[in-house]
Amino acid sequence: MNSPQLPSYISRENVGPWHIYLQQVEKVAPLLDKALWPWVETLRRPKRALIVDVPIRLDNGEIAHYEGYRIHHNTSRGPGKGGVRYHQDVTLSEVMALAGWMTIKNAVVNVPFGGAKGGIRVDPRQLSLAELERLTRRYTSEIDMMIGPDKDIPAPDMNTNAQVMAWMMDTYSMNQGRTATGVVTGKPLSLGGSLGRPDATGRGVFVTAREAAKKLDLTILGARVAVQGFGNVGEASARMFAQAGAKIVAVQDVSATLYNPNGIDLVALKQYFAEHRTLLGAPDCELISAHDFWCVPCEFLVPAALEAQINQYNAACINARVIVEGANGPTTPEAEVILAERNVLVVPDVLANAGGVTVSYFEWVQDFSSFFWSEEEINQRLERIMAEAFQAIWQLAEERKLSLRTAAFVIGCSRVLEARSIRGLYP
Ligand code: GLU
Repeated sequence: MNSPQLPSYISRENVGPWHIYLQQVEKVAPLLDKALWPWVETLRRPKRALIVDVPIRLDNGEIAHYEGYRIHHNTSRGPGKGGVRYHQDVTLSEVMALAGWMTIKNAVVNVPFGGAKGGIRVDPRQLSLAELERLTRRYTSEIDMMIGPDKDIPAPDMNTNAQVMAWMMDTYSMNQGRTATGVVTGKPLSLGGSLGRPDATGRGVFVTAREAAKKLDLTILGARVAVQGFGNVGEASARMFAQAGAKIVAVQDVSATLYNPNGIDLVALKQYFAEHRTLLGAPDCELISAHDFWCVPCEFLVPAALEAQINQYNAACINARVIVEGANGPTTPEAEVILAERNVLVVPDVLANAGGVTVSYFEWVQDFSSFFWSEEEINQRLERIMAEAFQAIWQLAEERKLSLRTAAFVIGCSRVLEARSIRGLYP
């Protein structure tokens, strides 16, 4: 979903997500404790990166090859952790950046994981369910040496879900000759999945938005919300805003941009989407241009799709009070400067969307102990972790006059590099 203002010769690739991640690290490095400076280079390099060929037999008998990746960005604080993305535009740069953001994110919410990420450069809409299963199983076998319950634990990301995790868990288990539920999270409940995991990222987005609202004297009740993306993150966060009395005034996905200043009926929209697999033609909504989505007047703007969606070409028209980053890397550094000048508060991805991996952590703990918690307990613990992380970041941002992103990076990078420095070098 490239922004229409982006000239066609600037692809997401040469905007370069890894480059964006590096710029964020550069900004924070001088703010870290001097004792950590010798270790900053750790953050500028992935620990290890694997590129794999994933050949599968298509339903028509032909053989197709796809490029897959698994990156361990950092494992100083624990095993690698991060999702697997299936998308036609996935690149090494993107997966490296996503792994780097996982390192920071896991440290920000203080779960005992490093950062990892995987992906396959594939348009999953072009594959049948059987082809998708073969793709997933072959990819899992190819990255087998990278993953394991105490090594690196994949999870869902864009275009992957509980079924894909079940195939990954089964493939790994068959290769190992034992059932290892803890090798992935975001699994179906029947395989050791956790209650609350499907909604966890959206819930975290909502909780951080609510905390931000308190600081700015905004109320969720009656607030206008625009959401980009109607997948796992966008839909769940929109639903939680609506349940708390907010009005969802705009929803955008690859197929369409819908607008209704009186509030979109999300229940009806979800049903329409389930039936038609597109937002196009949804009832009681005005169809507006993809660009106009960014100019919709609202209190909360939730980008919950791809990287670099808020960029130098649309940041100046944004008419929101708070941006809550449901996606990873949705705002470019250039856009961030423009937003700061316009007094738009950005709740950064490494905090706002950390609810997913937080409940992944709960799932991993439950699998290890073979003891499962109630949904209420999970949601309460999640809300507490998210609210406390928000407070710590807000406080540091106030004290040192930093953006919330920089403050989050100071906290996250410090935790990673403290672990790194105290472990020392071996051999
Ligand atoms: N893919 C999600 C993220 O970007 C969740 C990762 C996980 O649960 O490991 O945070």
